[in-house]
Amino acid sequence: MTTKPTALIVGAGISGLSAAWWLDKAGWRSILIERSAAIRDGGYVMSLAGPSRKTIKEMGLQDTLEQMSIKFEENIILDKGGHELIRFKYEDVHGSGPEGSLAICRDDLARIISQHLPEGADIRFSETLGDVSEEGDKIKATLKTSGESIEADLLIGADGIRSDVRSRFWRDVDCLEHLGYSYAVYDVEGTATDTHTSTCVTYNSPGHADILYELRDKRLAGLHLWRDDAVHLNDRADRMKTVREATEGAGIKAVSDVVNQAEKAGCTPVVDSLTMVNLPQWSKGRVLLLGDAAHCLTLISGQGAGMALVSAEILGKELQATKDVAHALANHGRRLRPAITRLQDRSRSMAAVYVTKNWLGYFVRNLILKILPYRWIVAWLADSAKAELKLLNE
Ligand SMILES: Cc1cc2nc3c(=O)[nH]c(=O)nc-3n(C[C@H](O)[C@H](O)[C@H](O)COP(=O)(O)OP(=O)(O)OC[C@H]3O[C@@H](n4cnc5c(N)ncnc54)[C@H](O)[C@@H]3O)c2cc1C
Repeated sequence: MTTKPTALIVGAGISGLSAAWWLDKAGWRSILIERSAAIRDGGYVMSLAGPSRKTIKEMGLQDTLEQMSIKFEENIILDKGGHELIRFKYEDVHGSGPEGSLAICRDDLARIISQHLPEGADIRFSETLGDVSEEGDKIKATLKTSGESIEADLLIGADGIRSDVRSRFWRDVDCLEHLGYSYAVYDVEGTATDTHTSTCVTYNSPGHADILYELRDKRLAGLHLWRDDAVHLNDRADRMKTVREATEGAGIKAVSDVVNQAEKAGCTPVVDSLTMVNLPQWSKGRVLLLGDAAHCLTLISGQGAGMALVSAEILGKELQATKDVAHALANHGRRLRPAITRLQDRSRSMAAVYVTKNWLGYFVRNLILKILPYRWIVAWLADSAKAELKLLNE
């Protein structure tokens, strides 16, 4: 009996879970270790569009995700005074039907992928890496909590933007690129109003964008972005205080009301900087980085989760096509790189459009939104996802 090659995957987020799914199809066995006690909860809605739709279909997740998808109808962009700048129909930008975009909560997607893993999938929660080394074409690792020793043919770092695997194997590589913004995201119970039903409202002011939308279960989600040259990666002691101070700067009552409600409800938002990960190679020997650990794109370009799914598919298919792991990893990087480069360029160039840096930028951006024909703006936004699909097919 031939034994299956084994991958040790660190991180059971979208990248790690989808890698385990595709590796199983390629005839590999995966051991997933996740430092949280369960699939991480945490509410923000992700738009899954473009190339990831094909991957979702191949994974057999299409129907489930269609059912779970939040049906947004409109995205209304307001200026500081509450006047409407533009009102996008969701399907004009994101399409509809099988070619359109799905709006899925991050934790729902992770849970659904985990439920689709083969029976007996080996996920170890509350677990992290102890010692790890590469010896010839094997990875030798010990797990911190259980103390178990593991020998694997591939180590996959799918452990997010502040990847432990990356810090061990890409030591001294300065790969974080801060865009000069911070964000906070949370959801709060019982505050949904009719105004937000099926609608995403973006309040703008110089240096700020505050987005409110309703989740499926009558919860209201808040996403706040603000200019912030100081990088507060570790400054998370009082997250709600950070959110309150940042949003007070925008001076918009509707936003402050929601922040107050979230504070009263004891929400603990995710607060972080908009930071990309830039690496010239995503693999070294038998170590591979996937998803945000390899190439965090930020929420400005979107598609981080979508590309994590696509990346896992490419990896699985490359490993199925050859037993030469080095060759498969090189092909994986070569095929994925053009789309990632394009998305990261988009994050760099679009950050200041979404969150204007100053009053001048704010007036110019708002003027453009008002004078350009709606169909031009929509066509430009919609074309982006198609361009990535083309790059992946080349
Ligand atoms: C507000 C917001 C909006 C977004 N919108 C979109 C969108 O519309 N569309 C889209 O496609 N993407 C979007 N994204 C991006 C998307 O969420 C990420 O790109 C994606 O979730 C990355 O998945 P990942 O598995 O690579 O990393 P993560 O989701 O960070 O998962 C990493 C996992 O590793 C675990 N872990 C970390 N360290 C260790 C360790 N040392 N040992 C063991 N486990 C560890 C973590 O607990 C976690 O479970 C958005 C992101 C944000 C913040």
